[in-house]
Amino acid sequence: MEDCIFCKIIKKEIPSEIVYEDEEIIAFKDINPAAPIHILVIPKKHISSIIDMKKEDEATIGRIYSIINKIAEDIGIKEKGFRVILNCGEDGGQEVKHIHFHLLAGKKLGQKIV
Ligand code: 5GP
Ligand code: ZN
Repeated sequence: MEDCIFCKIIKKEIPSEIVYEDEEIIAFKDINPAAPIHILVIPKKHISSIIDMKKEDEATIGRIYSIINKIAEDIGIKEKGFRVILNCGEDGGQEVKHIHFHLLAGKKLGQKIV
């Protein structure tokens, strides 16, 4: 995707603070953190949103949770806990149209909706 900001981050055309990377998943710090720890975990494949994921994407999307688990272990937030958020579409407040999981931690998070 030519004008996708996250695809540019994947291609290292835009700098980011990468905290994890393998052949299909990358995680980097959010530029505008909503918590002391705010990491975005994304597939390298451009999938616009959860609505657009295909059967063939199931393994990658599922593995994102394992990577979140690994990152949580590596940065020492497992004990205190964390929150994972995926925004989808207009009502969900999704701004960047490349599927991304927000990993938030480092303080007691407020504004629980559910
Ligand atoms: P959304 O609202 O789409 O769920 O979340 C998009 C997130 O991407 C926001 O938290 C925003 O701060 C982050 N973001 C947008 N542009 C950039 C960027 O260029 N670099 C990084 N690291 N994060 C970005
Ligand atoms: Zn993209």
